[in-house]
Amino acid sequence: LAALQGQSLPDTSTPSEQLGIDKIRLETQLREALAGHALELSYQPILDIPADRIAGYEALVRWQHPERGPVSPAEFVALAEETSLIVPIGEYVIDVACAAVSRFARAGVDPVPFVAVNVSARQLVHPGLVERILARVHHAGLPAGSLKLEITESRALDIELVARVIELCQRHGIRVALDDFGTGYSHFGQLHRLHFDTVKLDRSFAHAMLADPRAMAIIEHLAELGRALRTDIVVEGVETGEQLAELRRIGCRYAQGYLIGRPRALGEWLASA
Ligand code: C2E
Ligand code: CA
Ligand code: CA
Ligand code: CA
Repeated sequence: LAALQGQSLPDTSTPSEQLGIDKIRLETQLREALAGHALELSYQPILDIPADRIAGYEALVRWQHPERGPVSPAEFVALAEETSLIVPIGEYVIDVACAAVSRFARAGVDPVPFVAVNVSARQLVHPGLVERILARVHHAGLPAGSLKLEITESRALDIELVARVIELCQRHGIRVALDDFGTGYSHFGQLHRLHFDTVKLDRSFAHAMLADPRAMAIIEHLAELGRALRTDIVVEGVETGEQLAELRRIGCRYAQGYLIGRPRALGEWLASA
């Protein structure tokens, strides 16, 4: 085993040193981007299938990198989580998302769509996060239910902590969603013990649903379970009309994905709303 591990190591230390330097450089740039407001939000619509209207938008952070152009969070959120930079980034995201809700309201979009923001478990552990969110929501005078938190998870969720967060949020009209259900560390115990308003089914299921009857059966029964638990189910990653037609047929309520709309700047949605 030692020999095998030895073989898998790079023959010089340069690559790993390089990686370390790249990470530090990226972190410095990200810090500067946050300070210089080079982080922006893209908004992806979520369709209420039976009502045939956009119920809300998910805010997805984008980094307008001076040389590389827009960088997806898939590239920097993990780094930001490692370094706790995700905490100030998350606060910035909440502020901008609250402003977005206000703009929909001022534009006369009725009912005001919700804006969902991603919150990683790393942020929840940070004391006072929910209180700060509540202060911002109250300050912005948002309509109840217009801000939603999507809890994204890379490790096991602390059930007690998340239960407290959900309880506190719901008491103040902020809804909480479980993101990426069906992958990673998500499990049925979370559905049992945590009263999420929304569960988002990972996009791998939508991708498989037409070819794989097992994926289809899981979606169908999750939709049923959602009704029994009074939990909204959002199927993510809907890319084709056929997939949407099937979701409609089985009575699934919400869909998100490139078919409904790609993530776009707020102005584009305001113009078309
Ligand atoms: P997520 O929360 O699961 O967000 C959905 C991701 O899937 C987005 O990628 C979106 O662009 C992509 N997507 C949407 N529809 C489709 C589709 O039909 N097909 C495919 N193949 N992909 C689709 P994005 O924007 O690169 O975000 C990646 C992840 O980064 C997010 O996954 C979320 O976990 C995280 N993230 C994004 N913004 C934030 C943020 O403000 N804070 C935190 N903590 N995490 C964030
Ligand atoms: Ca999400
Ligand atoms: Ca997701
Ligand atoms: Ca995700």
